[in-house]
Amino acid sequence: QSSILKLEGVKKYFPIKGGILKRVQGHVKAVENVTLEVYEGESLGIVGESGCGKSTLGRTVLGLEEVTNGKIFFQNQELQNLSNRERLPFKKQMQMIFQDPYASLNPRQRIGDALEEVFVMHTKLSGKERKAKVIELLQEVGLKEEHYDRYPHEFSGGQRQRIGIARAIALNPSVIICDEAVSALDVSVQAQVLKLLKNLQSKYGLTYLFISHDLGVVRYFCDRVMVMYLGNTAELASAKQLYENPLHPYTKALLSSIPRPKVGGNRDRIRLQGEIPNPANPPSGCAFHTRCPLASDVCKQVKPEWRDMGENHFVACHHVEKENEHQ
Ligand code: SF4
Ligand code: MG
Repeated sequence: QSSILKLEGVKKYFPIKGGILKRVQGHVKAVENVTLEVYEGESLGIVGESGCGKSTLGRTVLGLEEVTNGKIFFQNQELQNLSNRERLPFKKQMQMIFQDPYASLNPRQRIGDALEEVFVMHTKLSGKERKAKVIELLQEVGLKEEHYDRYPHEFSGGQRQRIGIARAIALNPSVIICDEAVSALDVSVQAQVLKLLKNLQSKYGLTYLFISHDLGVVRYFCDRVMVMYLGNTAELASAKQLYENPLHPYTKALLSSIPRPKVGGNRDRIRLQGEIPNPANPPSGCAFHTRCPLASDVCKQVKPEWRDMGENHFVACHHVEKENEHQ
């Protein structure tokens, strides 16, 4: 499998400024250290509780946030060193679908005009050609020509998400970052939108980074899954491996909280102790140690390495073997 995106030690810190002088007093460590290869044509799930850094990671990959440290390669081209102008063709190649497309639509602008703007900005198409393109796009995402003249409030949540998808695919991207793209939708509408995303993927060979807190949806939709905790990658494996044989205690806890008996096997529910720590002041050693049922002294002092467990299964935990013996 060829990789389309590569992340090497990517960090994203946000400065915390305070006092009259607005001096930097610390950093929110939103993304701590992510190394990852994304394969062309796959759907890679990124999961974790809110605040784990998954959205920030997506925005950083897209170039909406500057990388604090580390490297991002898109088709073997390192993006950080490019000027804005040089980055433009790569930017078109990566698009994003948000949870609430309504928020990014102007309520007084017809949908057709909103979609045409993409072509105004990035192409030299004539007005007539743009309109034809937009109608084609509307049909591509399961809407109709007559929707061209409608306003955002005339659409249902599912239809608005289809508009968001239309906008994302307008310029023939190769990577789409879906940030909680179906999380606000009813379950039946979710299924339809996910099906549309899958169809578009096979038609255009799209690669998805699928950011979600919904482990059920991720299991259905994704080929591989990366679990994040407090900006750190905890585990990465094929969806099948991750759901059937999770190795990291945090992954186990997440899966055991899914209220469906078959998902993640018939494990007893693991209740996580305490709150997610403040990412401005993360715990020493393993970031999960304050809530982990298996934490030992080494966990408090030493950050666990990213370990290759074979079969493309990676985990960051000192006590993986130890715990598996107890199963
Ligand atoms: Fe738990 Fe230690 Fe593993 Fe971290 S390294 S997940 S604290 S057992
Ligand atoms: Mg988010």
